[in-house]
Amino acid sequence: MPRNRVVADLERLLGRDKVVAEESIVRLYAREPSGLQAGEPPLAVVFPEDTGDVSKLLAYAYRTRTPVYPQGSTTSLSGSAVPGPGVVVSTDRMRSVREVSVADGYVVAEAGVRIDELNLALAERGYMFPVDPASSSVATVGGAVNSGAGGMRGAKYGTMRDWVLGLHVVLADERGTAMWIGCRTVKCRQGYDLVRLIVGSEGTLAFVTEAVLRITPLPEAVVTALAFFPSLEQLASAAVAIKEAGVQPYIMEFMDEETTRVAAEATGAAVKVEGAMLLVSVDVNREAVERMLRWLEDMLRRSGATSVYTARSAEEAEEKGLYQIRRAFLPAVGLYAEKMGVEKPSIFIEDVAVPPTRLVEAVREITGLGEKYGLPALIGGHIGDGNLHPSVGFNPHDPETLGRVEEWFTDVMRVAIRLGGTVSSEHGIGLLKKKGLEMELRSLGAEKALDIMREIKRAFDPRGVLNPGKVV
Ligand SMILES: Cc1cc2nc3c(=O)[nH]c(=O)nc-3n(C[C@H](O)[C@H](O)[C@H](O)COP(=O)(O)OP(=O)(O)OC[C@H]3O[C@@H](n4cnc5c(N)ncnc54)[C@H](O)[C@@H]3O)c2cc1C
Repeated sequence: MPRNRVVADLERLLGRDKVVAEESIVRLYAREPSGLQAGEPPLAVVFPEDTGDVSKLLAYAYRTRTPVYPQGSTTSLSGSAVPGPGVVVSTDRMRSVREVSVADGYVVAEAGVRIDELNLALAERGYMFPVDPASSSVATVGGAVNSGAGGMRGAKYGTMRDWVLGLHVVLADERGTAMWIGCRTVKCRQGYDLVRLIVGSEGTLAFVTEAVLRITPLPEAVVTALAFFPSLEQLASAAVAIKEAGVQPYIMEFMDEETTRVAAEATGAAVKVEGAMLLVSVDVNREAVERMLRWLEDMLRRSGATSVYTARSAEEAEEKGLYQIRRAFLPAVGLYAEKMGVEKPSIFIEDVAVPPTRLVEAVREITGLGEKYGLPALIGGHIGDGNLHPSVGFNPHDPETLGRVEEWFTDVMRVAIRLGGTVSSEHGIGLLKKKGLEMELRSLGAEKALDIMREIKRAFDPRGVLNPGKVV
């Protein structure tokens, strides 16, 4: 349908103040932080204020076969939030924390609530929502649910699929049907688990307007050690040794030496970078702080660490800049590429995972691939759960480099699959990993799973208007 007609229809349907069609503004919603962007700008951006608005919108999309692209803060790194020619639906005006029930162990939040906002509300009650993507200051509940996001605490708490109890969703059908699925109890059997289907579905099955999320008490104390290792292999062995000793880290993250150096410089952290960095936090009772810290430092040194910085609380770790270095991973990849002479680089971030016992092999093989393709590739990630983010900054306008980057990207996925891992742990399939998903399913002899997924897509979204072109 012509742009003017769609805009006029949307204004009539929702009110003029909820529709933006000015092209220079609409363009701002067409790009992800990695540099991935829409070929042509969307027709308009709409800002629903409640489930009723979304319902009207999706009934309209169904009737007129207009594609709709749900968006939180557009921080996806897989292309899942890149729109096409259709209507972007932003959750920016759906930002209430509706209910906190500590005794029942859940919070109900609208889709546009930022993860950090959620945690501010919960901290007042001594609780937290433990899934913490490094983008948590802007990442939304709806975006995190639909990306199946994880984060630094994934080593202990897993990802969104472990923390979503129920969802209020709207379907792209004749009436824009709105319904609650799932429960407000941890134990819940409602036939097939539709909640888990929506988690990680990247806006392709239904629009999420509210989520019932599990919560957990804030830990009494968190001790942290930041250690430097002469080699990535020693670092990976240390990570495995900690797990084998029966300690379940609260956070276990790593970055190679180059990334650490650039990130430490950029954040002004007061540490001397002496190799690859392993960051380990463990949550303990207050009485156990000194004992755990001594054990951790000793274990890291015995595993080959040349220097170890410690903090007795999360606050002290923040003050010393221990976490900031790790949080600066993504900008560090860009800064490093610039140092290597790449102007205004785009960034590809891989998101593979391997079982932790295969980490040493995975790190060795993946770092070799950067050299093989002559790329300024770096590596870091959530080593505690085996989730690696090999990354590269490159010039997207040079077809020769782009070709090498694509081969590197595919080879990294091949390594993960061969070692019994997966091509995507938390960023999702989006546009970037569709081939990877097929490779992984083929390696398992599960090609049929793709057909089943396409049937599921048709059952939820018969006219294919929800975030078309993503996942399958
Ligand atoms: C610096 C940086 C660090 C990051 N660190 C991490 C990390 O540690 N762990 C991690 O998992 N990810 C990380 N990410 C990726 C991303 O930030 C997270 O996946 C985040 O949860 C996405 O939230 P968002 O609000 O930006 O969602 P968006 O990017 O806007 O959307 C993501 C997907 O969800 C869909 N969607 C959004 N809202 C809805 C809704 N209401 N209903 C239906 N579909 C919807 C979109 O269509 C899209 O497919 C990082 C990104 C950056 C830029």
